[in-house]
Amino acid sequence: MKFFDDERVKEIASNIYLLEAPRKGQFPYCHGFLFVGDRNILIDAGAGEDLIISIDRKIGIDTLIISHSHPDHLGTWHILSHRELLLPKEMPDSVHNLASLGERFVGSKARGLYWADTIGTLLKLQPLRKPDGRYSNGDIFDIGSVRIEAIHNPGHLDDHYCFFEHVTGTLITIDIDFTSFGPWYGNPEGRIKLFKDSIREIMKLPYKRVCSSHKFPHEGDATSLFNDFLAAFDRQKEEVYSVIGTGKTLHDIIRSSPIYKNKFLDPFLQYAFEENLVHENLLILIEEGRIIKDGDLYVSLAPAASE
Ligand SMILES: [Zn+2]
Repeated sequence: MKFFDDERVKEIASNIYLLEAPRKGQFPYCHGFLFVGDRNILIDAGAGEDLIISIDRKIGIDTLIISHSHPDHLGTWHILSHRELLLPKEMPDSVHNLASLGERFVGSKARGLYWADTIGTLLKLQPLRKPDGRYSNGDIFDIGSVRIEAIHNPGHLDDHYCFFEHVTGTLITIDIDFTSFGPWYGNPEGRIKLFKDSIREIMKLPYKRVCSSHKFPHEGDATSLFNDFLAAFDRQKEEVYSVIGTGKTLHDIIRSSPIYKNKFLDPFLQYAFEENLVHENLLILIEEGRIIKDGDLYVSLAPAASE
């Protein structure tokens, strides 16, 4: 298109563009999704400040929609603070205060302050202003050229949304992101079963392509991508199970870092996130009768083959 001479702006389908984020869209960035029509809509503000400013100057971004509260999706939202801002109905007021947002994400006030200092500084994150409107499940943004349906999709986070564009069949799965790490549910409100149900629902839609926030779009049937992503829950569970053996406390299991494998950028935040990743899997392993909780210890009933 003539008004996009920037190679970071990639046409996904008619009137829909991917704004390619730095680091191929890996955290702390995320790709943006731009819809051009009677009004121009951008979903998420994590594609980099200069790119968003450039697009806004060229065509005007009328509306910024934030998909959920995670910092990589809020990104540099503030450079569009003069535009319409729409947030999910389920998004709590903690997004208006970084310390509160941190507390929500890592479970205590002290940890929350650390989160705000670390992640807030890394991303130069600004707390969100009050929105101009809220959207909820089933709402449709009709801008003439495209019709974008908001689909509430919790599990990753309570306020996580996906989007389905009806004219072109473009499904935007946000953080159902098909990365090799697998699903992420590392905040206290992250829930494996809900996340799985959300994935199984969204993959039934009659899409023609699938786009996530952290990978490049996939044309055509994405069943194998969805199934691999679902299978990664089991891989993560087995990784947790493999370190339990004859008995470990939650603290010991987290310290073993079965899921992050000590590769997260900050050890303190890694511990906080891995706590929920591990705990969610322990609950399922207990339910499956593979481990028991004996006082403070989690004990494997049939030790892993390697032990
Ligand atoms: Zn997220």
